[in-house]
Amino acid sequence: MTMPVPREADWDLAPGLLEGAMDLELTAEQCDLRYWLQAAVQGTLRGRPDGHDPRLTVGPHMLRGPFFDAIAQEYAFRSLAEEKATRVLSFLVANAPDVASMEFYATQLLDECRHSMVFRNHLLALGVPAQRLTQAVQDFADPYRTSVLEPLEQRCLEVMRDERDFIGGVVMMTVILEGALAPAAELSERKWRPLDPAAAEIDKGAGIDEIRHLTVGAWIGREYLREHPGERDRVVKMIRDGMRLWDELPTHQMVYDREVRFQEGLELHRDIVGDYEIWPGRRLIDTTPKERQDTADRWSDEMKTKRLVYMGLEEALR
Ligand code: FE
Ligand code: FE
Repeated sequence: MTMPVPREADWDLAPGLLEGAMDLELTAEQCDLRYWLQAAVQGTLRGRPDGHDPRLTVGPHMLRGPFFDAIAQEYAFRSLAEEKATRVLSFLVANAPDVASMEFYATQLLDECRHSMVFRNHLLALGVPAQRLTQAVQDFADPYRTSVLEPLEQRCLEVMRDERDFIGGVVMMTVILEGALAPAAELSERKWRPLDPAAAEIDKGAGIDEIRHLTVGAWIGREYLREHPGERDRVVKMIRDGMRLWDELPTHQMVYDREVRFQEGLELHRDIVGDYEIWPGRRLIDTTPKERQDTADRWSDEMKTKRLVYMGLEEALR
């Protein structure tokens, strides 16, 4: 029997990433492989093999100049981040303590692999030749490929591969990596919406998956800690270390650089942006790089706090 697509995975009915990931509760038992086949593969992604409606094309203002630079840098970086996430998730699949969490992480692994693909392939739509794609992804993601992604990957490999620390890996993913990156994705969907609607759809689809990753990840973490209360102190320390590592990385500079390029594009193409509101009551054209970045940072803090409180780990914030 097929089930109707659940609201949280329905293209038209799903909540935005921020409200969805903040307020929903989903368990690993609910979001098993069977759920994913129907809700994600045959639901969210139906008719969108490239992450967007195939009728959406990329306008000439995106193919060169500041908008091209901004989106090429962003999508190349995110494609590599998703690729690294896919690879480290294989260790969560391998070390999952039960079938429910093993199935869930197997689906998340494919979600991240898909995200990596659609971000990468959008560069083709932006005019990067197919034979240069792999190299172009590396080049556009520089220098943050080495300064941001490599230290994060290194830490994930220590925890998930070398120490085979399942709960450590769950918390790293949910709080440090996805909790921090998800709000940047929300900003991306909102700011590209009037300029590159295919990209906005790619972001929207990834955001729908992300609701599941954040809520189920937090549920798995909370249940595990209820069953293994002796692990709590170690996990709290690990989150603190993870947040410190994050703070030391030049992520701020990276986002700011992209927003500055985006701003140059806005100045050049005011006509396309028109009166579009990035959030209620605020026209995109009136925003500044700092305002957009500060807003994403605020979302990120709210998301992290909410996840930690839910898992009973709020002590890590002090
Ligand atoms: Fe992802
Ligand atoms: Fe994710």
